[in-house]
Amino acid sequence: MTVNDEIQGNLISVTDSIDRAVADYERPAGSVQLIAVSKVQPIDRVRAAVLAGHRLFGENRVQEALARWLPLKEEFADIQVHLIGPLQTNKARDAVGFFDAIHTVDRPRLAAALAREMDRLDRRPDCFIEVNTGKEPQKAGIFPSDADQFIDSCRTEYGLPVVGLMCIPPADEEPALHFALLREIAKRNGLAELSMGMSGDYQTAIGFDASLVRVGTAVFGTRQAV
Ligand SMILES: *Cc1c(COP(=O)(O)O)cnc(C)c1O
Repeated sequence: MTVNDEIQGNLISVTDSIDRAVADYERPAGSVQLIAVSKVQPIDRVRAAVLAGHRLFGENRVQEALARWLPLKEEFADIQVHLIGPLQTNKARDAVGFFDAIHTVDRPRLAAALAREMDRLDRRPDCFIEVNTGKEPQKAGIFPSDADQFIDSCRTEYGLPVVGLMCIPPADEEPALHFALLREIAKRNGLAELSMGMSGDYQTAIGFDASLVRVGTAVFGTRQAV
């Protein structure tokens, strides 16, 4: 089987299982978008997904994303790339200049830097606030208890185009509890978008109203260690 056939087959089966979950949970058709997480994958696999017609991708590093996606975007103008990894303040300009959405807004200094670059570049990618639902010390994201205030200041103080929330549940816990918590925080803050669910748990996330699932391994196969 060629790489192109393999990736196309994976995209079809992930899309099918998203559609099944959407139907099972009685969500509106088309209410869940698949972000194909292409980080670290060899370029032939990434290209295969584009050739199969997929257009929405997720990357976790700014420089890596620019290097591989700028040329592809010249060829396929409708490609969209979302940043799903931690963002350093000093990369805010590159991130605002390139990405269609940033899922990892998680601290005031970053919010301020993004606001500044958005004004300077006159470009306003959608922003998601990352919530550290498991309160894991090593993990990025605002704590749930601080989320309401941070969301409010991102909107009013920094004027960011906040569209939703994002979380990465702790590896060793039932993800459903974290998805439920994220949904609750989004609801009380009037946010429509929920970026949650990965290869192992995206169907569950759809049951808790995920609007964007971030799926890497199930689309591209196991990543090489870096
Ligand atoms: C790598 C990554 C994913 C994809 O994970 P898989 O288990 O390979 O589907 C999703 N979200 C984030 C934030 C990631 O870093």
